[in-house]
Amino acid sequence: MGQHPGDYGTEVANTMEAELLVDTVAVQRRRIEAALARLDEGTYGTCSVCGTEIDDERLEARPEVDTCREHADTPVTA
Ligand SMILES: [Zn+2]
Repeated sequence: MGQHPGDYGTEVANTMEAELLVDTVAVQRRRIEAALARLDEGTYGTCSVCGTEIDDERLEARPEVDTCREHADTPVTA
């Protein structure tokens, strides 16, 4: 590891990617926990913005989402 000058940049990039991944996992974990909380409340599967049911296809692809397709990019302040 790090024998060649060019390796350093790769290692830095790998570290950054790893940190990004950890970040994503933490965010994902929070979303899943929120989804489980909604499951408890009985509001799982409905859009937190407009209250309509999130379609099954979307839920299957991303089970932790709490918004419908239309509000996918709306930041949720819960
Ligand atoms: Zn919506």
